[in-house]
Amino acid sequence: MGLDKKVDELKDDLIESVKRVVKIKSVQGESKAGMPFGEGPRRVLDCALDISKKLGFKTVNMDGYIGYAEYGQGDDYVAILGHLDVVPEGDGWKYPPFAAEIHDGKMYGRGTMDDKGPTMAALYGLKAIKDLNLPLSKRVRVIFGTNEETGSKEVKYYMDKEKAPVLGFTPDAEYPIIYAEKGITIFDVVKDLKAGCKKGYSVKSIKGGTAPNAVPAYCECIIGGGSTEDLKKLSVEFSNKTGFDIRVEADKEGTVIKAYGLAAHGSLPELGKNAVMRMFAFLDTLPLDNPELKDYIHFFNKYVGEETDGESFGVYLEDKESGRVTFNVGCVEMKDNSIKLSLNIRYPVTYTFDDLMNPFNKKLEGTGIKVKNMMHQKPLYFHANHPLIKALQKVYEEQTGKKADLLAIGGGTYAKEMPNIVAFGPIFPGKPDLDHQANEYIEIEDLIANAKIYAHAIYELAK
Ligand SMILES: [Zn+2]
Repeated sequence: MGLDKKVDELKDDLIESVKRVVKIKSVQGESKAGMPFGEGPRRVLDCALDISKKLGFKTVNMDGYIGYAEYGQGDDYVAILGHLDVVPEGDGWKYPPFAAEIHDGKMYGRGTMDDKGPTMAALYGLKAIKDLNLPLSKRVRVIFGTNEETGSKEVKYYMDKEKAPVLGFTPDAEYPIIYAEKGITIFDVVKDLKAGCKKGYSVKSIKGGTAPNAVPAYCECIIGGGSTEDLKKLSVEFSNKTGFDIRVEADKEGTVIKAYGLAAHGSLPELGKNAVMRMFAFLDTLPLDNPELKDYIHFFNKYVGEETDGESFGVYLEDKESGRVTFNVGCVEMKDNSIKLSLNIRYPVTYTFDDLMNPFNKKLEGTGIKVKNMMHQKPLYFHANHPLIKALQKVYEEQTGKKADLLAIGGGTYAKEMPNIVAFGPIFPGKPDLDHQANEYIEIEDLIANAKIYAHAIYELAK
């Protein structure tokens, strides 16, 4: 019997197992003994390990952080890294979000696609290999993460105790294969300000944006003193000239300036309109009483402005594998004599952190602006001829009859958290991505197709 037929035999059992894990609300909760990420993530981990045990696999629970089902012999192992935690369900569901109801061939529920369904599909792919007694030269682990949505701290816990897999994939993105993920930085650029001393408008506060990795759609600035009517006139002139949406209103503290933009993901800032930078552009035209604030605003208006590729800042990089730098100003906060912008800069896969930050830091020399709270993730990149990529391409093409194009993205997937892992599925090209949204579902047909693809992929990697 072949793997496909075996997966078909296991179909009903697979569906039941997906239902079991989807019915557990595994949103991060309060940390307790043995439940580092709260009750839900721990319960779903226990459930997945129980399913694995009943399927005949060796199981290990690593102190409630993460666990795995293991099969086979050998020093090296292949890993499938999935996660069983979910984001909160939110509103707008037509079926209950934790009931795993099936309607019109689709199972609805938070986590059906991200990432419980595909993780179970991989487990049953391995079960098919086991039932058929196919010979493997490496061990295989299906790893159940429980903290992917809120920091992936469980993978760090795992990597502190276990050696890395030699090859593997995560079923937590899309098909065909994501072979390149840009390097990601998130950090603040901060300047302390002395009190104002010149003639001009007195800025009391500036606030805009919700997260560093999103293009801000709104920014607000409070001005104390000065004439609201004058500012209104200036803003109308400025808006007419630039096309920016800047509005001025009287406020109990003086005058409020509002800048409007268009939100977009921080990995695609060119699709948005940055309300913070538009505010800076307007403020840069005004006489301000604080020369240090004026310098800060002028600096970023001049060297960033509407640009989203870092060129004027001197950090432009580009490669053919993954494209150019993306430079997003995500948030601004000015209060209590200091101002900071939170940036999200992503750099192409064939470059390093230093290639980005050396010129960045050089640009800041002499400005009094400091880099703080650096968060960095290295790029992920496999050569197109890497055996892992070749094996997954072969399986995908055989199973779907479609070409397995290699994808490069600016976002970071779960694959970045563990060495030698690449993102492979589970969403097929052209299918909607409802991850983190209302009415998330997985088509039963796609669940089974995933189980078959993953069965063959595991076999190819571990044979
Ligand atoms: Zn996910």
